[in-house]
Amino acid sequence: MQKSLVLLKPDCIQKGYIGEVISRFERKGLKVVAMKMMEMKDEIIKDHYGHLADKPFFPEIVTYMTMSPIVAMVLEGDDSIETLRNMCGATDPLQAAPGTVRGDLALTIRYNVVHASDWEEAAKEEVARFFNWDEIFAYKKINDGVL
Ligand code: ADP
Repeated sequence: MQKSLVLLKPDCIQKGYIGEVISRFERKGLKVVAMKMMEMKDEIIKDHYGHLADKPFFPEIVTYMTMSPIVAMVLEGDDSIETLRNMCGATDPLQAAPGTVRGDLALTIRYNVVHASDWEEAAKEEVARFFNWDEIFAYKKINDGVL
């Protein structure tokens, strides 16, 4: 069972897509085990997008991610990391397949609605970056164990 960090980015909140995006993940069978609305401060942006710090568009990322609050979530499920990356689609919505979150709800790479961890080590680091252990819940869903 894997845990993955998902961020609903400021454009997702501003366009009123919070429910739509979470609903897609829930319908897929992923379990929400942590969730909060928060503002991204410079420090956490630098940590989270450190791999892009030397890109010319980095200031755009900072402006984007501080436009309004985000919703941070931890989703759990078998192969949740790959599943979520597939469901979110390519980073550039122009390349993202129809049926994916970015393919359906985003138009440009600047505003691409969602973040999902891209591999296991990153997921562990990212979950810890956004959540304390006591904000992550273990619970059974009513149909757990039922085929
Ligand atoms: P992903 O979000 O799919 O993991 P990256 O880690 O490469 O992709 O990029 C992180 C985020 O940086 C993207 O989701 C997007 O918001 C932003 N970004 C990436 N490339 C560009 C670009 N060329 N112009 C503006 N923003 C970009």
